[in-house]
Amino acid sequence: MNDQPQFNFDNSYARNLEGFFSFCEAETVAAPKWLQFNHALAEELGLDPTSLDSEEGLAIFSGNTKAQGSEPLAQAYAGHQFGGFSPQLGDGRALLLGEVIDTQQERRDIQLKGSGRTPYSRGGDGKAAVGPVLREYLIGEAMHNLGIPTTRALAAVSTGAQVFRETVLPGAVLTRVAASHIRVGTFQYVASRRDVEKVRKLADYAMARHYPETVEAKNPYLAFFEAVADAQASLIARWMSIGFIHGVMNTDNMTISGETIDYGPCAFMDRYSPGTVFSSIDHGGRYAYANQPKILVWNLARFAETLIPLIDPKPEQAVEHLTQTLEGIQPLYESYWLARMKSKIGLSKEDPDDQELIEDLLKMMEGADFTLGFRRLSKVLLGENEPARNLLKEPRAFDDWENRWRKRLDHEGIPATTIAQVMDRVNPIYIPRNHKVEEALAAAAIEENMTPFSKLLTVLNHPFEEVAGSEDYTEPAPETNIPYKTFCGT
Ligand code: AMP
Ligand code: MG
Repeated sequence: MNDQPQFNFDNSYARNLEGFFSFCEAETVAAPKWLQFNHALAEELGLDPTSLDSEEGLAIFSGNTKAQGSEPLAQAYAGHQFGGFSPQLGDGRALLLGEVIDTQQERRDIQLKGSGRTPYSRGGDGKAAVGPVLREYLIGEAMHNLGIPTTRALAAVSTGAQVFRETVLPGAVLTRVAASHIRVGTFQYVASRRDVEKVRKLADYAMARHYPETVEAKNPYLAFFEAVADAQASLIARWMSIGFIHGVMNTDNMTISGETIDYGPCAFMDRYSPGTVFSSIDHGGRYAYANQPKILVWNLARFAETLIPLIDPKPEQAVEHLTQTLEGIQPLYESYWLARMKSKIGLSKEDPDDQELIEDLLKMMEGADFTLGFRRLSKVLLGENEPARNLLKEPRAFDDWENRWRKRLDHEGIPATTIAQVMDRVNPIYIPRNHKVEEALAAAAIEENMTPFSKLLTVLNHPFEEVAGSEDYTEPAPETNIPYKTFCGT
């Protein structure tokens, strides 16, 4: 009898993209233990959760056993980090175990993160710690439940080994699921080596996998670029609409699929302030909240550069085409942003003054809790405006805005109670509040107590649905916790 959990791996990356990876084995660990397993995601992947949530599964997700059909490999990539180019990065502590076809017939990568050194580890130890692993698990699930494209966590296990950072930390391995792990940096890896045929190979692979409709376009590679730009513009607009700050929007952390990836120093903004930066390494504020749309364009410009030889044999022509698309990204982003922000205040019809209405609200909200500020607007429609008003520095300014807003809502031709309900499906009540995340990770890492983590994860599984008894998860951090800082967490 074979009681090994079955994955039915189909490893197209390994098959098609020689030169973009190194085969590599995970390091074994002495004493693996379960931290968390994602049953729902396992089902979505077409895997058997029961056979995976077991000793055999633990052995696979800790790197101790190689699952049948897995061909572990570390992917190579390059990238601009804080604006400076590194031609050689790559998975320094991650291994792609293989790809599975999920129940929606989508191909998904299954990757270990923290499984030991690879040919791309440079000075690093290839390891990850319990805190950052659980952080990535938690934020990824939160983003998914908020409806934002993201990589997700299938499993988190502790290794029993120590990891040496500024202090000694308990080690862990995360199993991450992604539409793929191809990044802007993967293109830069071959483009910076002037290997046009490899750029073409990668583009053909990524197009077939993520944007099959572009293959048939008049200029397929230009259509591919437009498709990636569109997916990323939409993604960043979603981040902005919920106050998400990624923290390290390096080109190696920008996916071709349009999924959010690499939850390191990311955080949700508590008080609304456009310049908010949480990451302790982001001294210049390059990746501040309000800069994210600019970095979107900057990163896509770096991506465009890699595609020049594919777009047109005449470089000037290629540059002209790409420039035109690049110039359209900001307006495209703005249209996505406006649509999302309109939905946050209950608007679906067109009105030329909508943008101003939103911008005036945001101006008033400076210093107020971003999440609660929007969530409490639906209450205003139900006749309770104090909770929203009281969040603001100048509550009286709200009254004028409220009048303008109500007049505008009249044009929607929908009862206010219905609009309030729709707004509650767009404005979350629960987000991963920084102090709650820290509390959960500290309990897990220091006391091996997973209860706060499980509770927080449960709440984040239904971000829009208010549940009695969970008030604690809606409140901003106590004043002493602000300003909050995140550390790269690697
Ligand atoms: P990240 O900040 O996780 O996006 O990682 C940036 C780069 O550093 C990637 O190439 C990682 O693989 C590599 N890296 C980060 N942490 C480690 C580590 N502990 N050991 C080896 N490589 C690492
Ligand atoms: Mg990264």
